[in-house]
Amino acid sequence: MTIGVLALQGDFSLHLNVLSKLKVSSVLVKKTTDFDLINGLIIPGGESTVISLLIDKFNLYKKIKDFAIDHCVYGTCAGAILVSSECDDKKINTLNLIKVKSLRNFYGRQINSFSKKININFLKNKINASFIRAPKLTSLSKKNKILAHYENNPVLLQYKNILVSSFHPELSSSTIIHEYFIKMVKNNV
Ligand code: GLN
Repeated sequence: MTIGVLALQGDFSLHLNVLSKLKVSSVLVKKTTDFDLINGLIIPGGESTVISLLIDKFNLYKKIKDFAIDHCVYGTCAGAILVSSECDDKKINTLNLIKVKSLRNFYGRQINSFSKKININFLKNKINASFIRAPKLTSLSKKNKILAHYENNPVLLQYKNILVSSFHPELSSSTIIHEYFIKMVKNNV
């Protein structure tokens, strides 16, 4: 099993570090043929407007949509904005993989970045979640599973094979969110 990390812009290398810690094979994804090598895809945090432009520039929009029909995709922060169905910023060409509305930079500017211990539905212990110019995510479907909240807003959601978080699990000392995604990929939910 190999997990691809979209490597157009953003903090993709930190995801590779986590995957290597978990002894899971991973590759950087930059072009359409890279999709032949992977079983699941992580779209990392970064600058969603830039990643959106580069997805279009490298003809990856349809490729990601087609891949997501029968594979798992996890979007974190900017990645969550990209996979959402609606964004307040019309510059983003959303992939519409999960019925979620994203509101960019809801949790403040870079200097307002913070980490908070949050409860995750499937865990006993809280994990440390880092919010960096994170989006507000609003669930637009009752079929979405809300796996974590922070101050009444969902911050980790799943719909079938699609996972999104407004926070950055690759910055946490816990690898549990990546492990959860890897399980999704293994079970091909
Ligand atoms: N605010 C960024 C955006 O809108 C996301 C920040 C991040 O990924 N940490 O694209």
